[in-house]
Amino acid sequence: MLLRLSLCVKSLSDDFGISSFVEPPFLRYFSFMNRVKSEQLFAEALNYIPGGVNSPVRAFRAVGGTPFFVNKAKGSKVWDVDGNEFIDYVMTWGPAILVHTHPKIIAAIKNSAEFGTSFGIPNPLELTMAKLICRMVPSVKKVRMTNSGTEACMSAIRLARGYTKRDKIIKFDGCYHGHADSLLVKAGSGALTFGHPDSAGVPAAFTQHTIVLPYNDMESVKAAFAANPDDIAAIIVEPVPGNAGLYLPRPGYLEFLRDITTRSGTVLIFDEVMTGFRLSPAGAQGRFHITPDLSTFGKIIGGGLPVGAFGGRAEIMDYLAPLGPVYQAGTLSGNPIAMAAGIAALEELVSSETGNVYSKLEQLAEKLAEGMKQAAQSAKIPVQFNRCGSMFCAYFTGQPVWNLADAMTSDRERFKKFFHGMLSEGIYLAPSQFEAGFISVAHTEEDIEKTVHSARKVLEQM
Ligand code: PMP
Repeated sequence: MLLRLSLCVKSLSDDFGISSFVEPPFLRYFSFMNRVKSEQLFAEALNYIPGGVNSPVRAFRAVGGTPFFVNKAKGSKVWDVDGNEFIDYVMTWGPAILVHTHPKIIAAIKNSAEFGTSFGIPNPLELTMAKLICRMVPSVKKVRMTNSGTEACMSAIRLARGYTKRDKIIKFDGCYHGHADSLLVKAGSGALTFGHPDSAGVPAAFTQHTIVLPYNDMESVKAAFAANPDDIAAIIVEPVPGNAGLYLPRPGYLEFLRDITTRSGTVLIFDEVMTGFRLSPAGAQGRFHITPDLSTFGKIIGGGLPVGAFGGRAEIMDYLAPLGPVYQAGTLSGNPIAMAAGIAALEELVSSETGNVYSKLEQLAEKLAEGMKQAAQSAKIPVQFNRCGSMFCAYFTGQPVWNLADAMTSDRERFKKFFHGMLSEGIYLAPSQFEAGFISVAHTEEDIEKTVHSARKVLEQM
């Protein structure tokens, strides 16, 4: 298989080899929706935007066919330019945990915009946001805002290196931490081999300090520390990896990472860009009761606007400029409109008026999981339905999925058929086997019932 940009399995899906213009038989079988306007827009976009999209996985290359263009999102639904309605399980790839187009977030954006779109000077909303994050995520004593999850992860790595005065980092295969050069590394065959870049444009020298290991495998981590004593600046990990579908940490694995990093003076970075504020108010670390040294955030924290953040122990964060020697900056970081949107989202998540968001999400997700498992069983199709809180993934394989190698056993031809079948039923799942699905507070019991009913129908037709 050709890999262009592979650290992350996103790229595996992108390079799955189906041109957007070839219509495989299963597409003709399932696709009866009117998508004329979307197809016209996509054809035109190809002339102006590389691949017609501003982020690769949106191009549907992993599943075939043309992406639909959306011009409205409300509640748990999105509408395309041809007027088709979809129950959305992508939810803008995670940020919309509450609902699409939340009235309080919209009001906060409008209100803030009246006072100015950007200052480039400290503004009070930055402080409100920082206090809110520190309150919700107790391991975070100080926090710095960025404009994306990529920036947050890139900056956290630089900070860990500056703080420890070490160069090497460990990351795990199947974990995606944005597209900074040193993180664009796929798993090597040997657990201790140094990383090599997967994307064109990344010099080998930029990734020679990146060690890539299989997730959920304690022995390979021990071996990496033994081979590189006093040399590993940081472990960066998605505590619940959601960029190769979704798999969970084995019992004791995150505790083990905490322990070995503490003993080695290595900074433990939890990349909570996806799990932050989702798996609990304090993210995965709150759910699994682990205290990382640094955490990175994105998605939910911006209420749908482009925001990221990284934070953690004060003595490490104080290594950042202007206090310390590690440089990090951003013209639009802490932008007042983005802060207003993010604050509204976070406040709403913990507001007593909203009710217990997290138990509602848990219930809905459990209902979906049960329904999907039953649907697969009655269709006699092997499916592993992994779930953690409101994140989920259906793998078409008979074996449990604990890491990237397991995930790769999924039958992606089946996934494609399932994806298009569900789309034709008005249900939008992520257009790649290697992406997690997201449930929001706006999803209703009826949405879940319809989804399960459709899944049963599609799986039986398959
Ligand atoms: N880390 C994780 C865990 C992510 O899921 C993502 C994005 N999907 C990123 C980092 C990068 O975030 P962004 O796309 O905002 O740069």
